[in-house]
Amino acid sequence: MIVCKFGGTSVASAEQIKKVANIVKSNPERKIVAVSAPGKRSGDDIKVTDLLIELADAALNNGNVEEKIHTVVSRYQAIAEGLGLDQLICDVIAQDLRGRVAGDQSNHELFIDNLKASGEDNNAKLIAAYFNLAGLPAKYVSPKDGLILNDLPERTYALPEAYENLSKLADEKEIIIFPGFFGYTKDGVLRTFDRGGSDITGSILASAVGAKLYENFTDVDCVFAANPKVVNDPVEIKEITYREMRELSYAGFSVFHDEALMPVYKQGIPVNIKNTNNPSAPGTRIVPTRPATGRPVTGISADGGFSILYVSKYLMNREVGFGRRLLQIIEEENISYEHTPSGLDDISVIMRSNQLTPEIEERIVRRVREELYADDVHFRHDFSMIVIVGEGMRNNTGLAARAATAISATGANIEMINQGSSEVSLVFGVRSEFENQILKALYSEFFAAVPSA
Ligand code: ASP
Repeated sequence: MIVCKFGGTSVASAEQIKKVANIVKSNPERKIVAVSAPGKRSGDDIKVTDLLIELADAALNNGNVEEKIHTVVSRYQAIAEGLGLDQLICDVIAQDLRGRVAGDQSNHELFIDNLKASGEDNNAKLIAAYFNLAGLPAKYVSPKDGLILNDLPERTYALPEAYENLSKLADEKEIIIFPGFFGYTKDGVLRTFDRGGSDITGSILASAVGAKLYENFTDVDCVFAANPKVVNDPVEIKEITYREMRELSYAGFSVFHDEALMPVYKQGIPVNIKNTNNPSAPGTRIVPTRPATGRPVTGISADGGFSILYVSKYLMNREVGFGRRLLQIIEEENISYEHTPSGLDDISVIMRSNQLTPEIEERIVRRVREELYADDVHFRHDFSMIVIVGEGMRNNTGLAARAATAISATGANIEMINQGSSEVSLVFGVRSEFENQILKALYSEFFAAVPSA
């Protein structure tokens, strides 16, 4: 059995949904289909999920709710029309949205989640109706029937019983159309995953039914070794390990959600990233292990939006518990950190800047100074992390030197180097203004004129 997931652009219009039906029809093993909300139909379009967030904002701030509902419904209307479906389905969607808007607003996060989730929920119902019309016996299944999530305030994840419940889907005769992106707590409260979270739903389903393959359909032929918007004509990655993909999606590779790897990884189920608009292209396979290639580096990613908390104190290395107390202060601000490179008398804590506000920074700096008696403590902003990833890096000497030389040729200063103990990745912290230049320089250092992976 194959579990497929179709992303926003694959289900954004009637034309796209017809392609989805053809893809599913062409292989009877494709039995479970997770779907996103309608995404962008063109570059300047707006995703339905974003329209729903606007609707939720309008509802919370006494805005024009009816106008926003109309905008969302008209997206489904165009799809239903193009698919030859009964327009009644759009009245049902409008009713559904009004019901959600009238729901409990006491917890804003949950209220917004409930509206956001309607994007996938209504699309799944509509797609199931179309499959039946097109002669593909299909059934919409609600996440309520099994995708059980943890409670607030923790980040959303599926509880072990979710896998057990959903395993029963393997016995269904019809094709299952399952909305991505959300599930329910044991108490029946709807919660969504992070943005892009339909990838996670698909992965949970694949793991639950023990699928032989998880196909993730999107709008590109494959994953590239570097961002094609920055690097000219980067090589295509045909095969990549879970670990490599995890490292790359951490820093900017947005083709596949980084949290979506865990459920399939645990079961060793391969993932195939494929293009709805070109389904015969082989795509990129994410696998547990792969044979070594002639190239040590598989991909290079870059992501901005990092801040560094710099702390120095003479004889820090002798002070038992300094690191723990520093990280506790960060934890108490509910901030997650990414790296903590350290020297004898100093330590830096690298974190995503979007977690910080001037007030939080001020509190952290004051506490570190007063409670840890630091000599110097300050924040620096506008950093990017450049990540070089490859299973083959472990068996290759001199890679760090080559990377550092390529970076220094751009005139950028390396603010931080971190090599994880797995030796699958090498991370460089640099000022964001140099990000694109460095990506190009590293790409030509490691990929110019080497055989493809
Ligand atoms: N529709 C949601 C989003 O735009 C989830 C998804 O498509 O994966 O983030």
